[in-house]
Amino acid sequence: MTVAERLRAGVSSQIAARARKAAALALAVAIFLYDTLATQTVAVAVLYVVVVVLFASRASRNALHVVGGLCAALTVASFVLVHGATVQDGSVVRMLVSLSAIALTTILVARNEAASQVIAASEARFRQIFESAGVMLWEEDYSDVRAMLDDLRARGVEDLCAYFERHPDFPARALGRVRIVDANAATMESLGFADKAAFLAAHSSVIAEASTAFTRVLQAMWGGLPEVRGRAILNGAGGRQLSVQFIITFPSDRPAPDRVLVSLSDMTAFEKAQDELVASQRTLTHLSRLTTLGELSASIAHELNQPLSAIMLNGEGSLRFLSLDPPDIGEARDGLRQMVCDADRASQVIKRIRDLSRKTNRSMEPVDLNVVVAQTGRLLEHDLQRHRVVLRLDLAENPPLVRGDRIELQQVLINLMVNAAQAMSDQAPERRVLTVATGLNDGRLRVSVRDHGAGVPIDALDQLFDAFYTTRSEGMGMGLAICRSIVESHGGQIMAGNLAQGGAEFAFALPVETVQ
Ligand code: ADP
Repeated sequence: MTVAERLRAGVSSQIAARARKAAALALAVAIFLYDTLATQTVAVAVLYVVVVVLFASRASRNALHVVGGLCAALTVASFVLVHGATVQDGSVVRMLVSLSAIALTTILVARNEAASQVIAASEARFRQIFESAGVMLWEEDYSDVRAMLDDLRARGVEDLCAYFERHPDFPARALGRVRIVDANAATMESLGFADKAAFLAAHSSVIAEASTAFTRVLQAMWGGLPEVRGRAILNGAGGRQLSVQFIITFPSDRPAPDRVLVSLSDMTAFEKAQDELVASQRTLTHLSRLTTLGELSASIAHELNQPLSAIMLNGEGSLRFLSLDPPDIGEARDGLRQMVCDADRASQVIKRIRDLSRKTNRSMEPVDLNVVVAQTGRLLEHDLQRHRVVLRLDLAENPPLVRGDRIELQQVLINLMVNAAQAMSDQAPERRVLTVATGLNDGRLRVSVRDHGAGVPIDALDQLFDAFYTTRSEGMGMGLAICRSIVESHGGQIMAGNLAQGGAEFAFALPVETVQ
């Protein structure tokens, strides 16, 4: 409601209160005249309770007590005027009934009015805080969404995740049924709308789309959670886009969620800085990999050059000794022995380099892969949102632990999930669903990452995990090679394949930790 609208509403309710008070006064006079002048045998003065009720609106407790007292005084005055000093049993009882009714009504109405005024003051305070808060605040009506979820339950749906898997359009339909009822001034300022009317008119396009965060909102409602947090993209006026962090608080005292409070903080500047940081980190890693690769190649060439030249010289020498007539077998044998020693030296060099490259600060510990999957999902939330990818988790209940390095296993998941998101970048947004599932398979814990991209060409399946295999112009082709080396060093296996319904599946299976 705008300030002008609120003023108009205030003025009209004041006029109505005055009109009610005038009516109360007129009614009091009428009752007094009828009670005094007409001959009747009923307690007409009881009607003074209507006067008290009419007067009640916006009246203070004291004013109500005065009105109640006046009504009682008029009742007694009529009695005295009509009956004088002669007291008849019936008329006294009638007067006492009227006085009791007036007193009782005055007390109850005064109490009720005081309670209403406290509620009105608290509502006004809430409105004032709502309007003047520095963060964006919205009031949303989730009644229709609640009804949609209730309908699913009534139809026997128990697993909401599995239902979303079969009906990927459900979250978008549900989002379309969320109504923004009110928003505060900070919203208009952040999103660039001139006023509330412009914002509410455009509200259906303000929330960019049903992201992973919205499926979490639905899951929270389904599970009866009191609040849910997440990230979302908002479309402001004139093409402005904001990345926000939101907290939705569901009211605990109402069965119908028609006044859900949402607070949103603008994270755009923070995320821009973070993206720049990540981009510069990526460039640095890329450069340092190239530099390391260059240095490594130079040192390998240097270390191997010597034994290889020796093998060459000894080989040529041995051949010469064998081609003599008669052949000098002894010298040729010495030369071949030397060759074996040099080859051994070369393999030692290679072994040393391999050992060097494996030397990392590993910390092997029992790991719950469900936790690693959930953490990785949160870590990549913003990245996935930017690629408009919805993440679905299909996690095994209480899976056994695996023994491994948490960071390395997370690195594998990040690689597979980022690859999956990139593979779907040219698909329509509603197809961009990425599913990460965990499950027990043949006594091993299997983690699969499924996408709806174009899949892997059949002839590329054999080379995917080879170092430097890439089809991306900016790719290095090291991601999957690193994944394989990590998984195999954990005693596991990694595999890739295409799905019948389209898209690729990358999965790895690790031996489970045996309980001693
Ligand atoms: P990079 O990402 O640098 O290309 P990777 O080793 O991570 O290196 O991936 C190697 C190649 O495997 C990619 O270039 C791509 O052709 C293919 N690939 C990886 N993940 C997928 C996927 N989910 N769907 C289709 N192809 C994929």
